[in-house]
Amino acid sequence: MTEKSNKENKSTAKQDIIAWLIIAAFWISLLFWPVMHMARYETLSYNDFMNDLAKGKFSEVVIHENELEGKSAQDKFKIFKTNKIDDPDLVKVLTKANVKFSSSGKGGFWSSFGTLLLPSLLFFLFWIMMLRNATAAGGAGGPLPGVMSIEKSKAKVYMEDKVKVSFKDVAGVDEAKDELKEVVGFLKQPESFTRLGGHLPKGILLVGPPGTGKTLLARAVAGEACVPFFSISGSEFVEMFVGVGAARVRDLFSEAQKNAPCIVFIDELDALGRARGINPVMGGHDEKEQTLNQLLVEMDGFDPRQGVVLLAATNRPEILDQALLRAGRFDRHILVDRPDKAGRIQILQVHFKDKVIDPSVCPEHVAGMTPGFTGADLANLVNEAVIIATRRSAESVTEADFTQAVERIVAGLEKKSRILSAEERNIVAHHEMGHALVAMALPGADPVQKISIIPRGIGALGYTMQRPTEDRYLASKHELENKLAVLLGGRAAESLLFNELSTGAADDLVKATDIARNMVTRYGMSEVLGAVTYDSEASPFLGAGAEHHQRAQLSEETLKEIDYEIKELVRDAEKKATAILEKYKATLVAGAELLLINETLTKDELDQLFPKQKDANHLKLIS
Ligand code: ADP
Ligand code: MG
Ligand code: ZN
Repeated sequence: MTEKSNKENKSTAKQDIIAWLIIAAFWISLLFWPVMHMARYETLSYNDFMNDLAKGKFSEVVIHENELEGKSAQDKFKIFKTNKIDDPDLVKVLTKANVKFSSSGKGGFWSSFGTLLLPSLLFFLFWIMMLRNATAAGGAGGPLPGVMSIEKSKAKVYMEDKVKVSFKDVAGVDEAKDELKEVVGFLKQPESFTRLGGHLPKGILLVGPPGTGKTLLARAVAGEACVPFFSISGSEFVEMFVGVGAARVRDLFSEAQKNAPCIVFIDELDALGRARGINPVMGGHDEKEQTLNQLLVEMDGFDPRQGVVLLAATNRPEILDQALLRAGRFDRHILVDRPDKAGRIQILQVHFKDKVIDPSVCPEHVAGMTPGFTGADLANLVNEAVIIATRRSAESVTEADFTQAVERIVAGLEKKSRILSAEERNIVAHHEMGHALVAMALPGADPVQKISIIPRGIGALGYTMQRPTEDRYLASKHELENKLAVLLGGRAAESLLFNELSTGAADDLVKATDIARNMVTRYGMSEVLGAVTYDSEASPFLGAGAEHHQRAQLSEETLKEIDYEIKELVRDAEKKATAILEKYKATLVAGAELLLINETLTKDELDQLFPKQKDANHLKLIS
């Protein structure tokens, strides 16, 4: 989008060549100077020098502070040198030899010019070039034309004139859409908004986990309002050369103002707007700081009434610089969260549109299988299901394809080729059956849907699939304790039956520890520590400094108590699981045997083994 006239292009091309020539000269001189140097000079011992002098080999002698230089009488480019010795007879000897002699007072000028001055002069020139280039880069017709046009070679500001995405294409994020409708209204009819002197917030920040549709939403706003869409990703601002990023920011805003009304979208703002002072990485620090400062300057400088709307997206608002978030900058935040079940149904319908999906496929079922999936995960799921159906040469995509795709995405690809030894399979079977049995026996736990010992992905040797009864945003202490028990069921089964532990439970233990830690430090579920938060998962809009601050406040004793409480919770859970498994040991063994034969056990088969659990409709995996 940065169009420059031909003339300017030509002149920058010429300057490019000059710049490269200077750089080349610099390196060549640096490489060859010592060689040239050696060829001209020859160092002699003091006696040899004096002997040569007596023989009349020198035409002229220069006395330096620390050395003597004798010019060869035959070859005027050859110079003999020797270290000076404090010799009171020197002048006498020189006079006797009948040569011209003089004193320089200091080291030879040309030799120091060669070794020190010339390279530094060249380097200085090179540096000036870089600076000029950086200042001029894209600087909207700045007085100094760029020398190497670093920024021109990769114009990374994208402008889309006619964005085809509309709000129809973004589903399941109704609240965010409602807020953005106001922006669309403003872009369509700025007058109606400025009638009473008001204006939109300058910057709107879309906050949410990756893949929830932030980029899509921003484009949809442009599509709905039929205005140009300028987008740039924060990571693209971060350049090796100081000043280029800042110039790009300037370029972006000046270009946008010319095209108003329009949308400027900065994706991945965190790459650029990281709080100054965090994580300075080798010089990149300065550059980022400059770019960020330039962004702040531009944001303060532009008048939102002109019709430029600034949108940005991030999944890590907590690391953003406070200056970016303060009033008058990105002060409106729109949360784009993972969709709930209803949202997932809508998103699936969007992605079903251009695919041949069997009418029997119920989006509600598929949504039920995918709690926690983002929009991007769902798009991927639909695609995966289509691929599976295509591979089996089907007429259309059926629900079985979706189930398979879910399994594939959730637990990694089935790796039938991976061969476990009989002994390993035996352990895995009992491990998984342990999870399942604990889950089935505990009244509140999510019902088990399927268990399998077909290895998937890298980590998991088997898995147990539970269906939570509904999307859960709240969990009681009791439920969390049950969850812990289920997670430890695998390990408990191993130790109960084989009297030995294996590495297979590592992942379970990570999850269990996590839950237990949250129970103690965040949910106030430990009696000893009380209803106090000890954790510092910085609230998204709090400064990054807050975390260190809080950590530092915990005393040694408190930390010890936290660790102790976590350990207790996990230990209790293991005891609970072991008690259950001991009680139903026969079922555990029978189930594991069946699992070894069938490789998978479905809910029906499990119900026959252990006729107790209720029905539900979501999936959850424990490996
Ligand atoms: P983000 O920018 O939040 O990381 P994207 O906007 O890049 O996510 O989403 C990636 C893709 O996932 C989109 O192109 C779209 O196909 C799909 N997608 C994500 N969220 C949604 C949604 N809410 N509705 C429909 N499709 C979505
Ligand atoms: Mg994105
Ligand atoms: Zn496990």
